[in-house]
Amino acid sequence: MSKLMRWLAGGVVAIAGLGAVGVGVTTWQFANYAPKDAPQAPDPGALAYFVDDYQGARKAFLAQGEALATQYRGVERFEVPIVSSKAERDQFVDGLYIPAQSAPKRLLLVTSGVHGVEGPTGSAVQRMFMKEFLKPEALAETGVLFVHAVNPWGFSNYRRVTENNVDLNRNAATTGALYRTVNAGYPTVSPVINPAGPANTGALGNVLFPLRAVGLIAQHGMPTLRQAVLQGQYQEPQGIYFGGQAMEPSLRRLAPYLLPILAKYPLAMTVDLHTGYGERGTLHLFFDPPKDAARRAMLEQVFAGQRIDWATGSDFYTVTGDFVSWVGALKESAGGVHLPAVWEYGTMDSQTTMGSIKSLHVSLLENQGFHHGYFTSADEARIKRDYREMFYPSSPDWRLKVMRDSRSMFTTVLANWPKVGAPGS
Ligand SMILES: [Zn+2]
Repeated sequence: MSKLMRWLAGGVVAIAGLGAVGVGVTTWQFANYAPKDAPQAPDPGALAYFVDDYQGARKAFLAQGEALATQYRGVERFEVPIVSSKAERDQFVDGLYIPAQSAPKRLLLVTSGVHGVEGPTGSAVQRMFMKEFLKPEALAETGVLFVHAVNPWGFSNYRRVTENNVDLNRNAATTGALYRTVNAGYPTVSPVINPAGPANTGALGNVLFPLRAVGLIAQHGMPTLRQAVLQGQYQEPQGIYFGGQAMEPSLRRLAPYLLPILAKYPLAMTVDLHTGYGERGTLHLFFDPPKDAARRAMLEQVFAGQRIDWATGSDFYTVTGDFVSWVGALKESAGGVHLPAVWEYGTMDSQTTMGSIKSLHVSLLENQGFHHGYFTSADEARIKRDYREMFYPSSPDWRLKVMRDSRSMFTTVLANWPKVGAPGS
């Protein structure tokens, strides 16, 4: 070998070595990815709202409801059982309605657990609001309707989806046209996000997942991929973000309870509580651009002083069949105006490329394990732990921040909303 050749060969080895180091660093960072929390002041009362299991959270919700029923006139309660061959015992979508005590001017709906695994946080926020904010002055002209655990099976089993693998936030529609929607980009990504066989965290495809994802991003572009994955799909019943082939029975049976209450008020707003997406430790207001300027202006007034993400930036994606739009359609079919307000407590820094790839990987492993089993019991434990941590972090600082932000947000809403008139009033 000539001197030059030796030098060139050495260069290639060095570059390959650097590449291997790069791959090693990336895969290590990926495997150990865990965004940190800012330290919060201690507050045992705030932490006590968090109840991990569905039955415990339901019991606490019902008890809080009983307390309100003794304080206020006309409190109503309803429960929608889960009816399905896969249903389990004692799982209900629970409703609690406290009417406006003097004049029905506006209705606030606060809903939790549309994504079951996000239920413990949503339930905690609901009970905090019930206990700390429902004072006589707040209820004079504002009625409040709580829907607890819209997906109780998912809450009980720590899955995002229902007993039918359906994502309720892709399933809620007033017509059957939704279920014939074709997500054109989904087949491209499906082999990567819906792998077959038992879930094995040590498999090369999983260890190297960030590189495969970066390859897909380079090939298709982040906006296209994000849209294909997250929009919702109606073709693959075992795939992630499956929106179903018909409306889920729980939603169909919930509608007749919601309608007469919605009809009593000229104006309604739904605060639907979610976790997972967005910057960790931040309560995001992820609002779809409303269909007219008047509704947008009303939301801006209600949340004045808080930052609204109008979901129009580069990380924006549209979804089909979301729950708050469906409640809005019910409300407006009964007359009046509805304001959709999704609150999302971020956990994974999914606004970063690493965070979004990690979120996707955690989601797909959980879905793979559910449908195809796990390679080892250690895989099962790790996959389930990562999934729960993504939607319901155990970190006390994260939970304290949830309560701090929620108190601030509800304070804003209760102060501002009475100043906003219904259109035409
Ligand atoms: Zn969610």
